[in-house]
Amino acid sequence: MEQTERKTFFADVIVPVPVPGTFTYRVPHALQHQVEAGKRAIVQFGKKKVYAGLVVKIHEELPRNHEPKYLIGFLDEKPIVNPLQLRFWEWIGQYYMSFPGEVMAAALPSALKLNSESNITLSPDYIPDQINLTDNEFLITEALSIQPKLSIAEVSSIVGFQKVMPLLKTMIEKKIIVMEEELQEKFREKTERVAMLHPTLSEGDNLRELMDQLARRAFKQLEILMVYLRETGFPAKPATPVPVNVLLEGAQATATQFKALTEKQVFLPSTRVVSRLGEYHAIKDLQSVILTSAQQTALDEIQQHFVEKDVTLLHGVTSSGKTEIYMKLIASYLEQGKQVLYLLPEIALTTQIIERLRTYFGNKVGVYHSRYHANEKVEVWNKVLDYAQQDNRNEHQVILGPRSALFLPYSNLGLIIVDEEHDYSYKQHEPSPRYQARDAAIVLASMSGAKVLLGSATPSFESYFNAQNGKYGLVKLTERYGGQLMPDIALVNMREEKRRKTAKSHFSSVLLNDIAEAVKAKEQVILFQNRRGFSLRLECEQCNWVPECRHCDVSLVYHKKNNMLRCHYCGYATAVPAQCPSCHSTALKMHGFGTEKVEEELGLIVPELKIARLDLDTTRSKHAFQQIIENFGSGRTNALVGTQMVTKGLDFDKVRIVGILNADNMISYPDFRAFERSFQLMAQVSGRAGRKHRQGKVVIQTHQPGHPIMKYVLNNDFEGLFFQQMSERKKFNYPPYYRIIQIQLFHRDNHTVNVAAYDLAKMLRENTQFEILGPEYPIVSRIKSLYIKQIILKFPRSTSSIPLKEFISRCVVRLQSSEQYKSIKIQIDVDPQ
Ligand code: ADP
Ligand code: ZN
Ligand code: ZN
Repeated sequence: MEQTERKTFFADVIVPVPVPGTFTYRVPHALQHQVEAGKRAIVQFGKKKVYAGLVVKIHEELPRNHEPKYLIGFLDEKPIVNPLQLRFWEWIGQYYMSFPGEVMAAALPSALKLNSESNITLSPDYIPDQINLTDNEFLITEALSIQPKLSIAEVSSIVGFQKVMPLLKTMIEKKIIVMEEELQEKFREKTERVAMLHPTLSEGDNLRELMDQLARRAFKQLEILMVYLRETGFPAKPATPVPVNVLLEGAQATATQFKALTEKQVFLPSTRVVSRLGEYHAIKDLQSVILTSAQQTALDEIQQHFVEKDVTLLHGVTSSGKTEIYMKLIASYLEQGKQVLYLLPEIALTTQIIERLRTYFGNKVGVYHSRYHANEKVEVWNKVLDYAQQDNRNEHQVILGPRSALFLPYSNLGLIIVDEEHDYSYKQHEPSPRYQARDAAIVLASMSGAKVLLGSATPSFESYFNAQNGKYGLVKLTERYGGQLMPDIALVNMREEKRRKTAKSHFSSVLLNDIAEAVKAKEQVILFQNRRGFSLRLECEQCNWVPECRHCDVSLVYHKKNNMLRCHYCGYATAVPAQCPSCHSTALKMHGFGTEKVEEELGLIVPELKIARLDLDTTRSKHAFQQIIENFGSGRTNALVGTQMVTKGLDFDKVRIVGILNADNMISYPDFRAFERSFQLMAQVSGRAGRKHRQGKVVIQTHQPGHPIMKYVLNNDFEGLFFQQMSERKKFNYPPYYRIIQIQLFHRDNHTVNVAAYDLAKMLRENTQFEILGPEYPIVSRIKSLYIKQIILKFPRSTSSIPLKEFISRCVVRLQSSEQYKSIKIQIDVDPQ
């Protein structure tokens, strides 16, 4: 055999573990023709573990410091990640200070990830609060609510002992968890069984003869055949497959009866691949939507801004018809053959909006919902990936999704819309990368040569700042669609109402009168209280003892539904004590109120109301959220009580009254964004009032009616509050003038975390470009049995952040290289929210 000089290739691979950098593997000669960046590769990492990594680079340089292992094989025939995405991942990793493996884990749908460890995940049948859990079971379900899967080793470290298999076995039996198999491709194409008529049957009189025969002896079988012919047409076209399901259902027949037909060679059975995503057809032409002149002007202005600017902010009051503008804009990009990404806060991604888009764009709309099954997500991924092929440009050209939809493999993005751009759910908190999807969208767009439209009735101050100083285009829509008036806002002094004894429970007389009127007029009510549960705190009247969480530094919230005290940070639950464990008094009093209590007491005071509650507790099961919204939309319920969930982009016709039950706890939250956030919440929930038919009314209950923020809310004066807050932010070095990086240290031992935080802060202070706050305890200083200390770093927006981040990383590595601090967990949050 001819001995040509053979080249050796190396592949740099991202491995799905939280370690810096990529790892170099040697490509076996036999696999050389397969190696390509963007393909998943099976690699060995560490002594025993095998993972699916991702090839990011191919080269011929032998690594200097170690002998590379051979790569084991490839999982993909074609790359599943494109070069642009890899650049985007790199930016995310660098900017948000997270490892490549973490970014990859966030980006890929779970069914494309695999590794060699046995993992446990929550069972799809498991519904929290329905089963009594032991302490250990509880800890494991808690961990799984934060991180979708756990290895056996992780389980051991959570419960603190080695032999965890018996525990896991019971949990599997109780249908709390399921075990995933080892190194196995998780994505499976969905197939269905189909049947085709045997070709000879369409010749001559064969079919007629067969039918005669069956009519005499096997009437059910004849019926199956008839259903087939109904589906495919008569005379029979033999090569047309019909799903077996359709045949059986149509003929009300059994599998055995069908089998008899295949044995007689009447049907040839086979299987085919089907999509899980469904078919949709556009049923209306977008031409039929006529923009108002204000909307048309806004659309023109957006397009003019896009000539020069990459980002434009659409500041349009609630119900001004922003969605109509988005749709017209989307259409113009689709015509140019561009892909469009339409980001929404998770919770606003309801059938309402999906259907609105599908009405006009049909199958061009794809949805990437986080509640989708893992396999459905892979199908969406593949559709977006296929878009790069010229011949596949019809489906999924517009993607509607929450923040994770940023990571789909777009190849030709023209536009990203970030709707409700102020929404805090665009920020990922856990796990790393702690990215802000709105900001990341702007970076992705600039890498793709695409434009970004940010839309909100209450823009984030960061975005508004950029629009004010000309970095972004700014377009305003100040009127509601259809001449609808903005709601009338009334401020109610709860101190007065209580003094005069006109309030009933937590409801002012003003609010109750308005609710009564709405009931009379057959209109609806939304009540907002930003805490869930029944009472926020139990307290002993004798000695002031308050029940606290065993694992966290917070007091427990009373939930009446199952008569338990619960921790909202870790989920720990315990029975309500009959007496104070400290002084044995039985005088335990409840303080504060959450949505559960609002629901109950409102029902007692206004029995005519049909009340639904919308909060984390009522929406745990898969379709609950949708169901509650639909019931309210259709009028089956006429009062909606809820947490922030009721503030988000819902479009109802008959809401007359919106009540904000306690504005005080939002305003007094100790955070520099408290006013911005309170204004957004109040304005957004107010925006639900009085849509199509008449002016709505908002009642805000507060103990501090003279609070400075109230006048801005009353006048719907967004700009006034913005400029007032900007001067504060400037004075105290806060965003958008400064950038913030927050470092949190966690450890079981309070002393260890204290000294470590002190040492880290000392190292960080060597760099004088930072302004450093702390170390200090955050508001909740212990969560899930870990003590927390935090350090806040601030630096001017104009300072280049890359060297500073590198410095921070070096300090963290230095700290953790010391034996005593090895077990400290460190979280870094860039631009915390
Ligand atoms: P926003 O997103 O600004 O709160 P929406 O886009 O939801 O507002 O519009 C509010 C309501 O007004 C929706 O029911 C929408 O269908 C309707 N609407 C807005 N603009 C138009 C238009 N040009 N033609 C018909 N209906 C419109
Ligand atoms: Zn007591
Ligand atoms: Zn707790």
